[in-house]
Amino acid sequence: MALMTGEQYVESLRKLKLNIYMLGEKIDNPIDNPILRPSLNSVKMTYDLAQVPEYEDLMTATSKLTGNKINRFLNLHQSTDDLVKKVKMQRLLGQKTAACFQRCVGMDAINAVYSTTYETDQKCGTNYHENFKKFVEYAEENDLTIDGAMTDPKGDRGLSPSKQADPDLYLRVVERREDGVVVRGAKAHQTGICNSHEVLVLPTVSMKPEDKDYAIAFSVPTDTEGITMIIGRQSCDTRKLEKDADLDVGNKVFGGVEALVVFDNVFVPNDRIFLNGETEFAGMVVERFAGYHRQSYGGCKVGVGDVLIGAAALAAEYNGAAKASHIKDKLIEMMHLNETLYSCGIACSAEGQKTEAGNYQIDLLLANVCKQNITRFPYEITRLAEDIAGGLMVTMPSEQDFKNPATKDMLEKYLKGVDSVPTMDRMKILRLIENLCLGTAAVGYRTESMHGAGSPQAQRIMISRQGNLAHKKELAKDIARIDK
Ligand code: SF4
Ligand code: FE
Repeated sequence: MALMTGEQYVESLRKLKLNIYMLGEKIDNPIDNPILRPSLNSVKMTYDLAQVPEYEDLMTATSKLTGNKINRFLNLHQSTDDLVKKVKMQRLLGQKTAACFQRCVGMDAINAVYSTTYETDQKCGTNYHENFKKFVEYAEENDLTIDGAMTDPKGDRGLSPSKQADPDLYLRVVERREDGVVVRGAKAHQTGICNSHEVLVLPTVSMKPEDKDYAIAFSVPTDTEGITMIIGRQSCDTRKLEKDADLDVGNKVFGGVEALVVFDNVFVPNDRIFLNGETEFAGMVVERFAGYHRQSYGGCKVGVGDVLIGAAALAAEYNGAAKASHIKDKLIEMMHLNETLYSCGIACSAEGQKTEAGNYQIDLLLANVCKQNITRFPYEITRLAEDIAGGLMVTMPSEQDFKNPATKDMLEKYLKGVDSVPTMDRMKILRLIENLCLGTAAVGYRTESMHGAGSPQAQRIMISRQGNLAHKKELAKDIARIDK
């Protein structure tokens, strides 16, 4: 079964015995939980679209390992064309879900680990690359969703992993056995973990020899004994629990999800270990994963941005302001910013290069520039959307008031914009804008734009490393005719 249908994916998740907590309770049936279900629907879309002939070229690929047709989310990129298609696929999914569809972290992690294990084996004589190829083949054959787990809680940011007061603040090996290792620690902000079959764990920082126990990469099924997921709170999340929730949730069908994932003495068998103590390769896998995920944002955030720009344009149309020149100009500005982000995503893909292992990696400098822009432009796009939407976006009464006979007619009458548009359509668009700017989707569109795939300073460090200032100085000296 190289490609699962969306329904098969949902059923495959139903079989997992995940250990999930949310809002103070254990969640025994995450699949049908009203808060979690929209996030599952977003991942399901990555399966559904792969079945649609129109999207086949973007959504599927030919496996580098087996030659079989696979979902592109499991692809080891084989060309710059693959890298470009990845970004286009992510834009498409952002447009279809207006949310984080979660499956990219696994795609980015498998590509980073694939090339890093190869180079680790070359240098250290280890066997991680073969282990990893078998794992990817298994994931491809079963069309799995993989959570790429990188971010440790980190405790005191001024101290390295092994110097923390609590040694578990970075995930580490606590026991070495003949048949594998036992790990303990946690990974924070785990996108899509409760909708994933596997969790692929990577180190989160470069390491020194004394951090040996922390230089560990592996994958285990998400329902492995000892794993606990504690779901992150999203602004307005409990609106989804309200009776017949519809209008007020803004985006009824789709959403994203993050969780703190605790690994309490989890056993990892030898054949699932992809790095184990080779500290000098921790930085390589971190840099590569971050680079791929910074590229990813040039696709997904742009797709969600498309929906937000469309919603702002409709809001203006529905209240009769669409022809005002300042509104037109603001929409142009939003499109300009959004397409600039896309250009960065495409540019770092087109300039990609082959790794020693044979898969393709993005241009690191341009991917970091892409993400640095992402830490800013969605905020400006959001600001302009709120400007166009008007204050009603945050003062409109609840769905229940639109249903209550005592208030229904008053709301229909006084919240109407242009006569030809039903009041309820105007409200739907405002709630969608609220959802993207301030509600559950703001996690994925706004704050994640700042911190996901690394906070702004992380990109600035990479830009300073990759920017080649020395070369620029040489250029200036040449033109100015200064002796070298
Ligand atoms: Fe994919 Fe974007 Fe979500 Fe990251 S934030 S998992 S790139 S949709
Ligand atoms: Fe992310």
